[in-house]
Amino acid sequence: MEKLSFMLADRFYEYPCFEMYQQFRPEVPVVFNEELEDRIDVDLSGGVLVLTALEKGEVILQKEYDYEKKPLDKQSFKGFLYLFLCELIGYTLDWGTMTGIKPVKMAHNLLKEGRTPLQVKQCLIEKYQASESKIELITGIAQREMGIIYPLSQKKVSVYVGIPLCIAKCSYCSFISTVADKKQTIVSEYLENLLYEVRLTGRYLKEKGIATDTLYIGGGTPSILDEGQLETLLTTLDEELDLQGLREYTFEAGRPETTNLRKLEILKAHGVDRVCLNPQTMNADTLAAVNRNYPPQAILDTYETIREVGFESVNMDLILGLNRESEKAFMRSLGQVIALGPENITIHCLAVKKGSAIKTATGRQVENPYSKDFCAGIQEELGRRGYRPYYLYRQKYTQGNGENIGYCLENREGIYNILMMAEKQSIIGIGAGSSGKLYVPEIDRFDRIFTVKDVKTYNERTEEIVEKKMAQYEAFFGERV
Ligand code: SF4
Repeated sequence: MEKLSFMLADRFYEYPCFEMYQQFRPEVPVVFNEELEDRIDVDLSGGVLVLTALEKGEVILQKEYDYEKKPLDKQSFKGFLYLFLCELIGYTLDWGTMTGIKPVKMAHNLLKEGRTPLQVKQCLIEKYQASESKIELITGIAQREMGIIYPLSQKKVSVYVGIPLCIAKCSYCSFISTVADKKQTIVSEYLENLLYEVRLTGRYLKEKGIATDTLYIGGGTPSILDEGQLETLLTTLDEELDLQGLREYTFEAGRPETTNLRKLEILKAHGVDRVCLNPQTMNADTLAAVNRNYPPQAILDTYETIREVGFESVNMDLILGLNRESEKAFMRSLGQVIALGPENITIHCLAVKKGSAIKTATGRQVENPYSKDFCAGIQEELGRRGYRPYYLYRQKYTQGNGENIGYCLENREGIYNILMMAEKQSIIGIGAGSSGKLYVPEIDRFDRIFTVKDVKTYNERTEEIVEKKMAQYEAFFGERV
């Protein structure tokens, strides 16, 4: 089938149709109200929902769904459409209708309402028709996260400092990061402007008595900063933010060729207590294929240096699906990473998005190269080695409709990751591409604060960009003195 058309009078249901169908058939483009021979007619005109599937112009399935609460809300519509598609296509989805939401957050909310874990599971299975194993997974994660998220405090925020600069572009990456020039002029310009934002934001937060709960320096590749630049950034953060009660300080030293002993010593001296070293794969061929031009040994050496410097919390990321790696090749990488014993291992499912070299070169967006058993096997293997899931998120266009899961050794959760996903604490994003969230507990909602993504624009318009953000903070936390 080249494409599928949904015929529907009410545009209100367009997105649920698109979202749900894409979960089953991501490779088939969805259009609306085109009289195609392959289509699904959606009819709500008679007070019941009638779904009719046509293939090559012939009706192949028709179902009628009665609903009590009128008008039909989107989630209930998705539920009926899901049942219809299961029958039409011939299989169920592990995540049921859990699309476009943060699954663990749903479980948090129910636990917070006072429901028992068993009630949470029953409620989620009923509402989203997801598999028992997925609901079990997210309920377990939510239970473990509660003690980290609560109690809430309006006087605490997490701070994310973004350095969207890299030494080369990985082929799978769709993140808007700028590849630095040889002389790294753009890096120094960016740092200068970033420091301006750190100072203004930090002073404002201090003035309002707002402390930093967790601090995360992410990228891009923050370790692209040279030793002097790193020292300057970390000193400024120490001076400008209230770090007295800091629970976690993470630095992404993602690519080993940008990290050295001196940089790690600087991080340690400034109180960084969690370092991310992200191999993505330990397979030399895959590293080369995705434009990460260093040997796997470089990861092992950097890991050793990280430990020598005395870091007690290390995260390592692996991506499932890079370069169409075989299951065996992935398990080899996983085995090598587990053998190192980092406190956190994050397993991402490759998401091929617009802007990545893979998408541009091949046009392919989603494949399903691994069996369900294999994915469950990864979790089992990590479990056997003492790692348990502590945070989870899903994103569009992941291979095999998978999820990204952070695993940790006992009591070694990455706190920022949990807070970021839970959306119960304000996140202050500093720097290009950072995304902040200002949380309003009374209504359990947050306002997003975006910062322009590309470094060039950020450098050109820093004052204007930062001033606009400051105005948003003032509207939320109160005016500057
Ligand atoms: S994956 Fe990370 S290191 Fe690679 S280009 Fe993207 S941001 Fe840079």
